[in-house]
Amino acid sequence: MTLKDYSLKSKIFFFFILLLIAVQTVSFFTTRFSNERLEEQQLTSQLSQAETLLKNELDSRSYYLTAFVETAAKDYGLKQVLVEDTRSLLVALNNHRKRIDADIAIAFNNEGTIIGELVVKDSNQEIKRVSAGNQIKEKFAYQNFLNDESEQLFFPIDKEIYQLVITPLKNGDMIIGHIGFGYAINSRLANRLANLTGFSVGFGLENSGNWQWLVSEQVGLFDYSALDEPDSSFSPLSDNSRSTYIYANYVLGDVDKQSLTATTFQLRSNLIAAIKQDSVQLLLMIAVTLIMSLIGAYIIASGVTMPLRKLVSLSKDIAQGNYEQDINIGKTREFSQLADQFEHMQEAIQSREQEITEQAYLDSLTALPNRNQFYRDLPKVDNPFLLCQINIRRLSDINDTLGHEVGDEVIIEVANRLRSLSQPLYHTSGNGFLLRCDNETEDDIKECSQKINSVIEQSFNYQNIDLHLQVNIGVSTSDGWTQANQLLKEVDAAMQIAKRSNLLYQLYDRQIDQNTLDRLQLVNRLRLAIEKDEFVLFYQPKLNLQNNRIEEVEALVRWNHPVNGLITPDAFIQIADQTGQMAALSNWVLNKSIEQFYIWREMGLELKIAINISPENLLDDDFCQQLVSIFKSHDKLNDSIRIEITEDAFMDHDSKAVENINLLRKEGIYLSIDDYGTGYSSLAQLKNLPVQELKIDRCFVQQLISSDADKLIVRSTIQLSHQLGLKVVAEGVEDKKTLDWLISQGCEKAQGFYISRPLAADNFYTWLKQSDYSKNEEKQQVDGITSNVSTFNPS
Ligand code: C2E
Ligand code: CA
Ligand code: CA
Repeated sequence: MTLKDYSLKSKIFFFFILLLIAVQTVSFFTTRFSNERLEEQQLTSQLSQAETLLKNELDSRSYYLTAFVETAAKDYGLKQVLVEDTRSLLVALNNHRKRIDADIAIAFNNEGTIIGELVVKDSNQEIKRVSAGNQIKEKFAYQNFLNDESEQLFFPIDKEIYQLVITPLKNGDMIIGHIGFGYAINSRLANRLANLTGFSVGFGLENSGNWQWLVSEQVGLFDYSALDEPDSSFSPLSDNSRSTYIYANYVLGDVDKQSLTATTFQLRSNLIAAIKQDSVQLLLMIAVTLIMSLIGAYIIASGVTMPLRKLVSLSKDIAQGNYEQDINIGKTREFSQLADQFEHMQEAIQSREQEITEQAYLDSLTALPNRNQFYRDLPKVDNPFLLCQINIRRLSDINDTLGHEVGDEVIIEVANRLRSLSQPLYHTSGNGFLLRCDNETEDDIKECSQKINSVIEQSFNYQNIDLHLQVNIGVSTSDGWTQANQLLKEVDAAMQIAKRSNLLYQLYDRQIDQNTLDRLQLVNRLRLAIEKDEFVLFYQPKLNLQNNRIEEVEALVRWNHPVNGLITPDAFIQIADQTGQMAALSNWVLNKSIEQFYIWREMGLELKIAINISPENLLDDDFCQQLVSIFKSHDKLNDSIRIEITEDAFMDHDSKAVENINLLRKEGIYLSIDDYGTGYSSLAQLKNLPVQELKIDRCFVQQLISSDADKLIVRSTIQLSHQLGLKVVAEGVEDKKTLDWLISQGCEKAQGFYISRPLAADNFYTWLKQSDYSKNEEKQQVDGITSNVSTFNPS
């Protein structure tokens, strides 16, 4: 999946997620970092507070102690017992000691010897026991503290160190001795200071880099005994300890060249635990805000893309042609602008579509509804009607001679005139209109057509040209129609008939329809067929009955239609004739025959080929000229290619056909009268024609054996022809009896299925080679123009 496969919504959502994670991560680390710094600062300040408290406490203790000791030194009783009695001295000392709960009380004589000493031992911290010190009578080790001022020193006894204040006892100005009171620097004190400062407090002696703890039991939360363990060793002197502890040292004084130091400290791990707890809370908070933000992001992403999704669905609706959409995609300015634009677009599309639709159903020249509109309207019609296909006559002539501009004017004029009939009118093709005469029936056709004609035939003057407008009308009725398409075919077929028959109107007749339609289809294809060389020639032999040899064939054309297969000439010759394509077709046949003649000659087969030309061809001077020039361009072609012309070709027409026939004959072309007997000509009429051969139509030959009348006709025709110097061909020979009879009557040639059906060139060659008709190799006789009555030669 690539990025573009995700929806905009997902993308916005993912973007928010990334943004949130980034912001939260940054804020987490900043908060954490600043928390750590804050903690460090706080701790440092707490530490210095603790240090100050500790100093104050110790200072005020020493001040208080000094004040007490100096007051006690003024006690007369104490001065008295100092020199008299040790026991009394100890009692007096103890009385004073109790007043301040001192841990040590000590008295010296004026020689610096200890004369009284009381020490409080607190083995367990609850109960204190006062005992006499064991240094009595000993010289005091710190004689320099015994002067006439109050002095404070840290005094070690056994393993304890005492804060001791010593002051002189005076009689007047004379120093008679000294007394001192003090407190032990021990766990008890540490505990008190710890309570006061909120930090652990410890005491230790430092001697040139070595540290020795003075407290070794549980003090508050801190067990000093654990400090001796190697993994938690803590020396306030070592910087290594800074990573584990935070602490401050305060030097109280010297003890035998060692520094007595108070330390306030705290384990860093405690602090980190606190910070860690904060971090967990922070993470939790971040998680909660992240989830809430994600929900928010989802809502925003959905909200932002919702109008787009709405637009997408709207577009789909519009694409399906549903334009009645209420476009409401949000209230923000951008979206309402978008909605407005969308609505404009929707309207524009709708109106353009309408325009296009209108154009699709309208003819641009006449602004009349077109064939599509006719299809659309027809299903809605439920009344009977006459449908008229109205075509303008000779519009193509107008186009050709006066130009398309005039042609267009004619179409517009006809459209306007038909409009005036106020019936549903359609312009369906260049020169074709459809007029629906609603509620009219077959009985009204004449009246209807005349109404149409009355508006059309009024003279039309265009640019000083008087145009006489004419139409042909094909009519069909609404009863029995199945489909619009069918109806259109019907009126068109009827119109074609009206046009060809030069009628104003023609009612469609289902009987004639199929032929007409087939014909029309062929007409449309025929021109193309000539261009595309879709024709083939079949060859049917004419048997020379005098020598039983085949020296001549008739070329018969077939249309190899790409869809319908081989079509016989009966189906299209007439069409070619009527649509003016006969010349092209005959030319094709002639050329093809010449080609075939040479091919066979190459193959050692000398065969004359007779081609059929239509009566229309004989009236066509150009065609005949061309025919002559083709013959001229080939050497002795008139020996090889012969022409068959039906008898009606020159019977119905004027001298033109005769003129052309003479022209052909002058070229020495061999001519044959085809289908003799079917027309109204008599042999007497034919005798003036320059022809050499007569073909008796097959209708007289086919049933000849069983029909005496046919026998009579054929026999007399043969005889008369011979008298006129014409050779006779009998076509339609379908059996041996007929053939034999024809031979017995002196007929020169026979043609028919009994001998051979028309065959394609290759097939014909094969057939001929294996037939009896090619066995005889003696020189073939050429039918001479001058040859007369033939000799009967029963073979
Ligand atoms: P057609 O000139 O009289 O040609 C002879 C027709 O009779 C051929 O029909 C042939 O097949 C048919 N026929 C031959 N022997 C027999 C038989 O023993 N019994 C029966 N019942 N019929 C036989 P096809 O080929 O269908 O030609 C029909 C007509 O079409 C021709 O009559 C001719 O008038 C015309 N035609 C054929 N080819 C051409 C052509 O190239 N040009 C022109 N203008 N017309 C042609
Ligand atoms: Ca013929
Ligand atoms: Ca014929």
